[in-house]
Amino acid sequence: MDKITIIVPCYNEEAGIELFYPEVQKHVEKIPACEFHYLFVNDGSRDGTLEKLRGICAKYENAHYLSFARNFGKESAMMAGIDYAESDAVILMDADLQHPPEVIAQMVELWRQGYDDVCGKRVDRAGETWLKRTLANCFYALMKKFSTSYEMQRDVGDFRLLDRRCVEALRLMRENQRFMKGLFTWVGYRKKEFPFEVRDRAAGVTKFNYISLFNLAIKGMTSFTTAPLHLMTFVGILVSFGALAYMIFILSMALIYGDPVAGYPTIMTVMLFLGGIQILSLGIIGEYLSQIFHETKHRPIYLVDEFNGERVIYRHGIFTERDVLK
Ligand code: UDP
Ligand code: MG
Repeated sequence: MDKITIIVPCYNEEAGIELFYPEVQKHVEKIPACEFHYLFVNDGSRDGTLEKLRGICAKYENAHYLSFARNFGKESAMMAGIDYAESDAVILMDADLQHPPEVIAQMVELWRQGYDDVCGKRVDRAGETWLKRTLANCFYALMKKFSTSYEMQRDVGDFRLLDRRCVEALRLMRENQRFMKGLFTWVGYRKKEFPFEVRDRAAGVTKFNYISLFNLAIKGMTSFTTAPLHLMTFVGILVSFGALAYMIFILSMALIYGDPVAGYPTIMTVMLFLGGIQILSLGIIGEYLSQIFHETKHRPIYLVDEFNGERVIYRHGIFTERDVLK
């Protein structure tokens, strides 16, 4: 009998969380030789999500929950699920039923064929705005250019089944600036993508806006590649050579031909251009610095307040690390 835990990060999902269990259970109970468990992670919701989760877990024996001390973000919520799950495999799923539960059978089948990381690839992003799609394309294109040793999977999100091997590998990575999509790719193992269609949200609203997605993209980039730093060095060299050539040109025009060079426009253009590049470079350095700043503090990725109705103290937060060290 295979044991699989479905990890469900929940943040302000009061409106639709009660639909989740019956809808998913309906599909997974048909899968042979498989015992499913649910691990809901309440990511510091401000609405009645926690009360609803307590209700669900009291009603169904295979449902469990843990609740954070505050909102730590989806990446941390998924990690907590990965830390706490004790099973042969885990499935990461959003609480809003945007990930179709009917494909779980297919995921389990692929896992049984020997794949360690069965990841859902969204077939079309048609439901998204033009701007969101274009920005996503830019992000993937940049990541592809920047990361040479491994390739970031395109249009592959967090909906996936991970074998115990991936789970153990992910537990080793305790960085608190987390970009799970990159970490899944980083651990490698045998990956298999399968197509799925993203549904509309069952209830409630999305928790991600353009700013949070932009921040996630920056986090993704700065935690997986230092290529932007090298790029700025390259730009610096290029600009210096350009400046030298331009200086020679201007000096010769003035000295040889006595050409009165128009000062104001030239100076303004060059100043603004260089100023822009300098601020950009500083910004890029700043992004890496902020990563270092957060990482050097070694704070835990999340703090658990409650696990299946029991109040948890911090030591429990690292019990999986102890597990890994054993
Ligand atoms: N989520 C979370 N913490 C957050 C934001 C979101 O746990 O700070 C959860 C949310 O409850 C949902 C999943 O992450 O289960 C995906 O969020 P959402 O549906 O808002 O994102 P979208 O599908 O629009 O990308
Ligand atoms: Mg969603």
